[in-house]
Amino acid sequence: MALRLILDKAIHTGDLTRDEVVALLSLEGKDVQRLFSAADQVRKQYCGEGVHLRGLIEFSNICSRDCNYCGLRRGNRRIRRYRMTPQEIIDVSADVVRKGLQTIVLQSGEDPWYTAERMVEIIQGIKSQADCAVTLCIGERSYADYLAMKEAGADRYLLRHETSNPELYHRLHPDMRLEDRVRCLRDLKDIGFQVGAGNMVRLPGQTIEDLANDALFIRDLEADMIGIGPFIPHPNTPLSDKSGGTLEMTLKMIAVVRIVTRNAHIPATTAVGSIDPFGRKKALMAGANVVMPNYTPIEYRVNYEIYPNKRCLTEDPSESRAWIEAMGRVVAEGKGHSLKRSAQ
Ligand code: SAH
Repeated sequence: MALRLILDKAIHTGDLTRDEVVALLSLEGKDVQRLFSAADQVRKQYCGEGVHLRGLIEFSNICSRDCNYCGLRRGNRRIRRYRMTPQEIIDVSADVVRKGLQTIVLQSGEDPWYTAERMVEIIQGIKSQADCAVTLCIGERSYADYLAMKEAGADRYLLRHETSNPELYHRLHPDMRLEDRVRCLRDLKDIGFQVGAGNMVRLPGQTIEDLANDALFIRDLEADMIGIGPFIPHPNTPLSDKSGGTLEMTLKMIAVVRIVTRNAHIPATTAVGSIDPFGRKKALMAGANVVMPNYTPIEYRVNYEIYPNKRCLTEDPSESRAWIEAMGRVVAEGKGHSLKRSAQ
């Protein structure tokens, strides 16, 4: 089918076949811009001009997993490990809300010290001090743990599926299985969380077809939020000598996911900002509508090294508003809950 026809369909219905998604992800040269414009048009129509800010707090870099790409993997001995206390997490959250953000994102390695009881204490502590939404990003847990955290007041949960190719998934996480990840995502939805999935771009061995399947997996899951970023090789991991994801392929993936999901919240991730100084701005022009400034206290932030040269290490999170407004967008008011009907 001619590109013009695929893009028309992309703008008007988003109802693309797998082959059409592959065709869009394979675009090169001047045509790529046409894809980005189509995604931007869909973003404008379904999400408006508002960019949602989410305040990120990376509260522990201790991890019991050994994911081959991640600098926090338990096998990495060359990293200073830390845990923030529940009170520290609550205090930093209150501070972030005082600065005008209304979503707190709590992210960590899979650190068993933070039992469901401790997470409940943290969530209740945050909610009793500040009027905000709480998003968790702390990995795979039992149904009972997820339920306890939801009942304590947590609103959303991010758990990227990383790749929808089961063999590739298993190669990257020898002690984990894609089906467990997917079960967790379904549990989270069932419990009533607004749920975020997502994948990395250009993982070693990943094909364009894999990426197309990721986009369709995300669509079929009806994810409320989708995190997409380039794979960035970390020197202290088994994948240190592999090449990382490019800006262009990451932006194409963001654009395609915007087109097929219509109104999901899609962040311009720190990873995309780390491989290009204007990466996040370009993501916001290719379908993204969320920015997650990093409010982890600086003494901890330097050690939350998922991948090297994270952009947020040096930037002041309060600058986000300025660069968003400078590109003609506005910072959205309110908590920025899911736009999907199923979550309301
Ligand atoms: N333990 C939590 C948080 C993981 S860190 C969880 O399992 O959800 C958040 C995300 O960072 C991961 O889901 C992964 O997609 C991404 N990430 C990890 N290592 C990376 C790397 N080397 N390059 C790019 N992204 C990476």
